[in-house]
Amino acid sequence: MHKFLITVFFCGLLLSSSAQTIINRDAQIEMMIKEISSDSLRSYINKMVSYGTRSTLSTTTDKKRGIGAAREWVVQKFNEFAKASGGRLTAFVDTTTLPADGRRLDVATHLGNAMAILKGTDASDDRIYIISGHLDSRVSDVMNRIADAPGANDDGSGVAAVLECARIMSKYSFPATIIFVAVSGEEQGLLGAGYLADKAKKQNWNIDAMLNNDIMGSNNSNETNIIDNTRLRVFSEAFAVTDTGRIAQNIRSQGLENDSKSRQLARYVKEIGERYVDNIEVVMVYRPDRFLRGGDHTPFLQKGFAAIRFTEMNENYNHQHQDLRTEKGIVYGDLAEFMDFEYLRKNTGVNLSSLANLAKAPSMPQDVKIETKNLTNSSTLNWKAPKNGSVKGYYLLMRETTSAVWQKKIFTAQTTITIPYSKDNYFFAVQAVNETGNESLPVVPGVAR
Ligand SMILES: [Zn+2]
Repeated sequence: MHKFLITVFFCGLLLSSSAQTIINRDAQIEMMIKEISSDSLRSYINKMVSYGTRSTLSTTTDKKRGIGAAREWVVQKFNEFAKASGGRLTAFVDTTTLPADGRRLDVATHLGNAMAILKGTDASDDRIYIISGHLDSRVSDVMNRIADAPGANDDGSGVAAVLECARIMSKYSFPATIIFVAVSGEEQGLLGAGYLADKAKKQNWNIDAMLNNDIMGSNNSNETNIIDNTRLRVFSEAFAVTDTGRIAQNIRSQGLENDSKSRQLARYVKEIGERYVDNIEVVMVYRPDRFLRGGDHTPFLQKGFAAIRFTEMNENYNHQHQDLRTEKGIVYGDLAEFMDFEYLRKNTGVNLSSLANLAKAPSMPQDVKIETKNLTNSSTLNWKAPKNGSVKGYYLLMRETTSAVWQKKIFTAQTTITIPYSKDNYFFAVQAVNETGNESLPVVPGVAR
């Protein structure tokens, strides 16, 4: 099949011809990106809105209204998609009952995350990648379980992206496992994500990356009248909860505050998302989240996993957490008519390409070290092969200490490299890459004395 041509992609920042690496798009990922449909995304959101309210406190017994019917529908969609997966995609509602907490749960509540697991094809590969959105919605009063709360963008957009990724990706196989999840209880205090992160930690899941999508399908703000469907924000934290003691000392002495696992993940999705999706720029924000807000990546960060949040560039606060009403000619409420499905299509593509590239890639190289025993103006790094996946070679990544993104990407088939750049002046990392050009997350070298 030569229908889909491999597009040659030049990394614009690689200026030195000796170090230039040409990266091809993986034809299979390119094919998946083409399958993302703004019409599918629109239909998922219209269906979610049709449940009236998806408040976590709403009815779970009504067949047509409330969060219970909505989560059953999500699982039904997953099950439809599962038919094309050859038995690898399994879907269920993962439930727990939480007691009233005197805050945002006024009664004991039956909480359910709608999940689908696409089992990896390599039985020895325990890596897990998670994409999430939250199914629950709200109006002005977070305790209101009765009023219509369409939640088209917050967070119908995230759940639609999850569903569309599941629809397309379940037709393909990946060595690592991918979990698609529409969590519940976000608006009541990140409850569904907290429950899942807890379980993952207790059961020792090897989660390499968690992508949280929340409010990412509308293109204009209520104040500035800027319409922007070419940029998507990704939020990442600087310091992990595990960055204590000796690790914290190293971060301070080596200036590694922008090289946390989550920030590496943000940098990775910027590179891969922009490689595969046209007319989108992934804008990194060096913060875990926006002011006054939290998201479902937060409980995963608290458990030490790499997790990031995707959110549109310009939020419209007239269309978030609002009772449906018109005041002085302004329409308030989170309605589907305010969505931009072409923008949502591109943002879904950023997620899909990142997930696919990660799940196809080998795992990360091991024992990555930079030699520091001599004072030299060159740098030598060495590492060991990854635990899982077939490896064609490795990329050495480098950037100046003030640069947000990697500036050079140098291929080697060896497990050691010496380059004529001083370790004092650059940050480095190493990725494993396979035959089809899918690269692992980067590993920052430890110091070998
Ligand atoms: Zn939200």
